[in-house]
Amino acid sequence: MERTRATPAEEPLAGTVDLAYWLGRAVAEHQAWTKRFGPHPRHPSQSVDPERLTVAFDELSQRIGGSYPFFHPSYAGQMLKPPHPVAVLGYVATMLVNPNNHALDGGPATSAVEEEVVAQLAAMFGMETHLGHLTGGGTVANLEALFVARQCHPGLGVAYSAASHYTHARMCHLLGVPGYSVAVDARGRMDVDALERLLATGEVGTVVATAGTTGLGAVDPVHEILALARARGVRVHVDAAYGGFFTLLADEGPGGEGPLVDPAPWRAVARCDSVVIDPHKHGLQPYGCGAVLFADPEVRRHYQHDSPYTYYSSDRPHLGEISLECSRSGASAAALWLTLRLLPLTREGLGAVLAGGRRAALRWARLLAAAPGLELFQPPELDIVSYFPRTARRSLSEIDAAGTALMRRGERADDPVFLSVGRVSAAEFTARHPDVVVDRGDAAILRSVLMKPEFESRVDALHARVAALAAEGSGGVGRA
Ligand SMILES: *Cc1c(COP(=O)(O)O)cnc(C)c1O
Repeated sequence: MERTRATPAEEPLAGTVDLAYWLGRAVAEHQAWTKRFGPHPRHPSQSVDPERLTVAFDELSQRIGGSYPFFHPSYAGQMLKPPHPVAVLGYVATMLVNPNNHALDGGPATSAVEEEVVAQLAAMFGMETHLGHLTGGGTVANLEALFVARQCHPGLGVAYSAASHYTHARMCHLLGVPGYSVAVDARGRMDVDALERLLATGEVGTVVATAGTTGLGAVDPVHEILALARARGVRVHVDAAYGGFFTLLADEGPGGEGPLVDPAPWRAVARCDSVVIDPHKHGLQPYGCGAVLFADPEVRRHYQHDSPYTYYSSDRPHLGEISLECSRSGASAAALWLTLRLLPLTREGLGAVLAGGRRAALRWARLLAAAPGLELFQPPELDIVSYFPRTARRSLSEIDAAGTALMRRGERADDPVFLSVGRVSAAEFTARHPDVVVDRGDAAILRSVLMKPEFESRVDALHARVAALAAEGSGGVGRA
């Protein structure tokens, strides 16, 4: 295929923000800043040949061209989308300096910026007090929460639902604490009766409630879990890595629109012991931005260490003193800060971005419920829609084959659509659809994460496209 070479500033890269202009300004600002320090000659060892740069950059561009088009409405697969151009601008402008938020010595300006965005996240959840910081992502953020949980309740285990992120079991292994998997109900939420029985053993010191599972976007009943845990002096950590920003939709919307998510679990987060949220998922940020927040600032004692290399410039606490990671990009904090200046943590700000995808998911669920060739796996609680093709024989093996084949046909079509599959066990399937024939242990179902608000105006077209793919395949099931 002939590759069209992009010319700089051919068109505004993303809607209303002319990124080519703004990146040019970021470079200009940076150059003006460096000039304040007088001449700074470069060593020849770092100079590069422009022609070789052109060749290498062309090769890189070609390689990146092999990516899935996460930005496009035809991509309705995994939880992936590009950052907001404002986040890119904040990131690049700051990265040119390359501050390190481990210590005030490394990132005096961006450490202050990080404290501000962390306070905004805590306020979004309604936390009255907090201690927190950004992290490289949700996995490390959860590790920190479980580390603190272990220090608070030595010798006791951690309970998480069977649908929680796989890293909880792994991190328990790493921390040397027993991990207990709790059964889920027919919507993939933690079964509170099963939790109550487990807590009665006295072996559990901390419960992880997932507010938005990675697979189906199920929200554990945080309020019910909290009541059970508090009665026994057990900690509650909320893994809201994916779902956290949906708390903005628990309030009334503009024009009298009611809450778009059940408010009860979200309101309870304010009273939990810790919460993790990933701005690099629904906060419009590039990868490398998670966050952990603790309700009790006194947990900082568990991080105590000294660093002979850093921590000189100030008597103020350094972020590295309350964090397991050492070096961390100050540019991540700056990117989030700039984004939240433009799209604040309100129902009308960032909330409006999530609302688009949430309404699209509700609409698609209605369309799927009425579709002849497709079936809804379960109603979406957030913006993740799960579905499967109707097959001649309602068996797991036919559903599995037809779903996977539909995804492949979609990718290969001239007018492609990119979906993804998730694997569910036979028990999870029959909990929702008791009439399926269980002829294998699990089945792939189709899963579309509608993270982009643009889906709101595109969901009918997306449904029509997927329905057509299902119809194409229905003659082929069993033949292939
Ligand atoms: C994505 C996710 C994680 C892991 O976060 P990373 O940022 O990928 O490290 C943990 N828990 C949940 C619920 C998630 O969705």
